[in-house]
Amino acid sequence: MYDYLLSEEYKKFKEEVREFVKTEVPPSLLKKMDNDEVQYPGEFIQALAKQNLIGIRFPKEYGGRGLNWEAEIIAEEEIGVLGSSLACLFSITSICGEAFHHFGTEDQKQRYLKPLCEGKKFCAEALTEPRGGSDFFGATCTAVKEGDNYILNGEKRFVVGAEGADFFLVYAKTNPNAPPHESLSLFVVDKSDAVESAYIYGLMGTRGGGAGRLVFKDCEVPKENIILGEGAGGKIFYQMMVPERLTTASGWIGFARACHRIATKYSTKRKAFGQTINRFEAVSFMVAENCTLLDAARAIVYNTARSIDAGAPPTLQRRLVSESKKFSTEACWKVINNTMQIMAGIGYTTVYPIERLLRDCRIGMIWTGTNEIMSLIIQHEWYKEFLSEKWLGRDIEQDAIAADHEEEKHYG
Ligand SMILES: Cc1cc2nc3c(=O)[nH]c(=O)nc-3n(C[C@H](O)[C@H](O)[C@H](O)COP(=O)(O)OP(=O)(O)OC[C@H]3O[C@@H](n4cnc5c(N)ncnc54)[C@H](O)[C@@H]3O)c2cc1C
Repeated sequence: MYDYLLSEEYKKFKEEVREFVKTEVPPSLLKKMDNDEVQYPGEFIQALAKQNLIGIRFPKEYGGRGLNWEAEIIAEEEIGVLGSSLACLFSITSICGEAFHHFGTEDQKQRYLKPLCEGKKFCAEALTEPRGGSDFFGATCTAVKEGDNYILNGEKRFVVGAEGADFFLVYAKTNPNAPPHESLSLFVVDKSDAVESAYIYGLMGTRGGGAGRLVFKDCEVPKENIILGEGAGGKIFYQMMVPERLTTASGWIGFARACHRIATKYSTKRKAFGQTINRFEAVSFMVAENCTLLDAARAIVYNTARSIDAGAPPTLQRRLVSESKKFSTEACWKVINNTMQIMAGIGYTTVYPIERLLRDCRIGMIWTGTNEIMSLIIQHEWYKEFLSEKWLGRDIEQDAIAADHEEEKHYG
């Protein structure tokens, strides 16, 4: 957000993250990741941890900083400048940590949350299955209790960190006969021989994050590694979707902003027909649209973060994070497309990072729930909210000239 809206503490924090992004991440890492020469940049997570920059919302006793959502999105936007893979790896501690923070036992927090925040362990979350990601509650991975263990079988795919993570948060069916929302449980699964991982996808963008497939074959998971108990998967899923969606919404603003800056600068230098191209309305109006879209995306994301910090009820949080993710990723897609148009031919080449960030951008409309699923949630929560409210404001329908023609108000 604009610095003048931030507290002194958060202005300093933003500078701290900006400095990290500027000095601690060599361009060679980004190039190697995009060339698929690096599968999982654990050293990036360790560098963040060294400066106490991951898991920042979690309590200090577990290695966090005890900050709020506003701080997290400030950091996510700055780190987002590095593109979607590193933004995602920054946020993965926030997403997986959310499960431990809200629902984990003390033992689970010590064994997993603390080493995560300290950069000693890497994690991944495994929701999506080959049969589909949108129908989350239709999961077919199973976990059957046998003595002191659960035996996990099944397959997940597109998991960031499938290659590279030390443990996985895996949703599996523990009670196939229960209603879908009560049929799933969440397990912490340590990497072992019973977890086969394969780095197999040639991705359009977002490369180097270890996205791959996981296969669980009679994988033994100690009963201490179930989070919150059998059937609690749905409740935990809804909570994890807050960081899942809000970090994408904020990270995308970071790299769309970076593209916007590059194209703005370019437009003041590049000449055509004897003048710099920013003198053409066709160009400067695209710059204007980008300013507007970025400000609007930032506004919705900050409003959501501040609403959560202020204690918005869970159903409202669900709607706001879905709106933020949908709006921000679509706005940023438009912004980056505009920047490519402004830079034209050279923007399409690897001389500038626009083409990489355009490729990175596309996944935002697909992962953490597609934007169609976001619309599904938004309308669902809105109708619930609308139909249960008692409206005390003006009845605008009565302001129509023919408002009293009640006989014309047919509803089928
Ligand atoms: C690079 C990458 C990284 C990823 N990282 C992870 C990760 O770390 N962990 C993880 O678990 N998953 C991850 N995913 C998976 C991602 O979240 C899913 O791809 C996404 O949720 C969509 O699932 P799907 O691809 O199976 O599409 P499907 O569910 O098959 O959907 C196909 C189409 O149908 C539409 N659709 C489906 N149902 C409805 C409906 N009810 N109403 C309207 N439209 C509908 C969808 O919007 C979409 O357009 C990742 C994916 C990629 C590509």
